[in-house]
Amino acid sequence: MWITLKPGVAAVEVRGALQALGLWTEPLQSQLGGADGLWVQPQSRRVSPEEILAIPGVQDLSRAGAAWPRVEAQAGRAVQVGPVSVGGGAAPVLMAGPCSVESPAQILAAAEVAARAGAQILRGGVFKPRSSPYAFRGVGAEGLSWMREAADAFGLQVVTEVMREGDVARVAEFAELIQIGSRNMQNFGLLEAVGAAGRPVLLKRGMAAYVEDWLLAGEYLLAAGCPGVMYCERGVRGFDPQTRNLLDLGAVALLKEVYGQVVVVDPSHSAGRRDLIGPLSRAAVAAGADGLIVESHPDPAQARSDGPQALWPEELGALARSVGRWPREER
Ligand code: PEP
Ligand code: MN
Repeated sequence: MWITLKPGVAAVEVRGALQALGLWTEPLQSQLGGADGLWVQPQSRRVSPEEILAIPGVQDLSRAGAAWPRVEAQAGRAVQVGPVSVGGGAAPVLMAGPCSVESPAQILAAAEVAARAGAQILRGGVFKPRSSPYAFRGVGAEGLSWMREAADAFGLQVVTEVMREGDVARVAEFAELIQIGSRNMQNFGLLEAVGAAGRPVLLKRGMAAYVEDWLLAGEYLLAAGCPGVMYCERGVRGFDPQTRNLLDLGAVALLKEVYGQVVVVDPSHSAGRRDLIGPLSRAAVAAGADGLIVESHPDPAQARSDGPQALWPEELGALARSVGRWPREER
């Protein structure tokens, strides 16, 4: 964001007042010989335009120079997934379901468990990104209708991942929310195709992506026409394999507090093991997450992918209750 100053007013005269509001600025001399200006650094606090315009000496505000103007423009707003609002001050939303859709019966059972636990969105992958080409890579497009029917049976919305541009239209037909996986966060052709599909997007953070790269990936989606992007922190690559990935709660707070974005946390891929999902989920909500996306399977021992991190049916309900109850109410 840029601030232009009234003619004859020097940057030093207003910088103090801006800093008192939590805005960190760089003074800039106009190249055109007009009024001085100030560039507001992105790590500044979010402040309403009215508060800035009330400072004597400030003439105008402009977002023209912002690196991610469309992401800035969605700050503070909810992302709408069918009838479900995520963010924008709404209570945290639970998305739950298996890592992979395996059969009509499995996804139906998973949907029932999710709905009973209070989830509003059913997760599950039909196209699975796997490190090995010989691992189970998902049931494919056939699973989309299984997922749709299971979700409809329990009044849930669907979120599922798409990996290829050629599958985008098909996925958009069956899912209210499209997932871009960690490995595709900077697959720009895919981002443009998904952005143009008219569905909101759950954009997972690349496993070694800077927050700036992540915000810019959201800008690709929005520039292509996406109606809303939510940012999903799923752990970045740390140095210790005992926790599969390193849940970056600092990034959750940053995206929320500074950038005003809708943020969802995936404690399952962060932890890699079911016994850590409760504490990580509670920490995520305490840090400001607008939602959780959690892997749960009717029988994790039989899961074809990510079984060790999938919650058992009764564990999902217990998790939801523990996240929804604040420590103050327990006393
Ligand atoms: C998933 O959600 O199933 C998944 C593969 O996640 P990620 O892209 O975060 O690894
Ligand atoms: Mn998984």
